[in-house]
Amino acid sequence: MADKTDSEWKSELTPAQYAVLRQCGTEPPGSSPLNYEKRAGEFNCAGCGAELFDSKTKYESGSGWPSFYEAKPGAVNIKADRSHGMVRDEVTCAACGGHLGHVFPDGPRETTGLRYCMNGTALKFEPK
Ligand code: FE
Repeated sequence: MADKTDSEWKSELTPAQYAVLRQCGTEPPGSSPLNYEKRAGEFNCAGCGAELFDSKTKYESGSGWPSFYEAKPGAVNIKADRSHGMVRDEVTCAACGGHLGHVFPDGPRETTGLRYCMNGTALKFEPK
């Protein structure tokens, strides 16, 4: 599942999912229904289904993007992203390499202090 060609991804994903996951796009803030998802469950990669975040680590950051303070162990990779004149830490799915969003050091201080700022488009919610 990790080694799909670009044309395979393009045919399997919706245009919005393809733009985020495979072209490092960013959904408009406030656009994802997952901003309002408060049920218990798992947030999985919309590309490959890998479990990425537990609902217990989701919080309201006020950013307009679904936000989490912790990813599941080994579920994501982080690397420096110097695009758009900024230095940010890009978060990708460790299983399929899909772009998920960025992580910032301004999360809740009583937790990890991290804010995983995710595109809801890149996630699928599975209620428990
Ligand atoms: Fe994935």
